[in-house]
Amino acid sequence: MSIPLDSSGPLMKDYASTQACTWCDACGDYGIWTAIKRALVELKIHPWQALLCFDVGCHGNMADKIGGYRFHGLHGRVIPFATGAKIANNKLPVIAVGGDGASFSEGVGHLVHAIRSNYPIVFILHNNANYGLTTGQASALTPKGQKMNVSPNGIPERTLPSMDFVFSLEPTFVARGFSGDIPQLTQILKTAIAHRGFAFVDVLQSCPTYNHFATHDFLLERCFDANKEGHDPKDLAKARQLATDTSKRIATGILYQNEDVPNFCEELVPRQGKATQLTEEVRCIDPSIFYEDFI
Ligand code: SF4
Ligand code: MG
Repeated sequence: MSIPLDSSGPLMKDYASTQACTWCDACGDYGIWTAIKRALVELKIHPWQALLCFDVGCHGNMADKIGGYRFHGLHGRVIPFATGAKIANNKLPVIAVGGDGASFSEGVGHLVHAIRSNYPIVFILHNNANYGLTTGQASALTPKGQKMNVSPNGIPERTLPSMDFVFSLEPTFVARGFSGDIPQLTQILKTAIAHRGFAFVDVLQSCPTYNHFATHDFLLERCFDANKEGHDPKDLAKARQLATDTSKRIATGILYQNEDVPNFCEELVPRQGKATQLTEEVRCIDPSIFYEDFI
């Protein structure tokens, strides 16, 4: 398919960067990087019309490998600053990107409250089941017993059941993609960007350098498109079962979607009925009035 779909939208090259990619050969980051750009192009969102926020990690190196407005922040903290930007300008599509290490350890509290609060942003989990940037340490999502760097005898902890955990928080959107299926991931991201509230997108990402257990071929053999097999994303019980049972096959696609729950910004009473965004209401204030008492 040629991109763009019509002359009013951006081209793929509009999301290009002069910075060369530094990911390892065959890294799944290339697929996710491409799908993000394709989704934005196909939705006719220009680089100046969206904000892309990155956590620290291999995926975070995407921050300067893509055009547009980008923010690269502290480890585990991508959700707070992505959410702050969204609250300041609710019209702005905001995509936050984080890894499995930071998102389910250092930043797990932020993920909990993002789901609970139904912040209207997209969260893409680069899930390669390890800390790749720091050379392959175990994350909370690494399988128990797996030998990793600094865990030569296999990690002793149980694996955090990430999808069960997410569903326990009553999410409004849960999807799963695979870095090796760019067309499907593009469609997932387009739906996630249009979602009313917090869209959690788990992307199983190959990491050929440090993840030798869930390889590209392993994932390719097991992943199937649940929507093509008739799964209805409104079926919460089935969605949770598909998301959590990966023992034989791994369900991908839009697993759960509920558009009936108001998002955080809609629930903010002081913002209701406002025609303007906070970014349009900013004005200069002389701060000296606040510290007069201390002088
Ligand atoms: Fe990709 Fe893994 Fe290399 Fe990081 S360490 S760039 S995740 S292959
Ligand atoms: Mg990781």
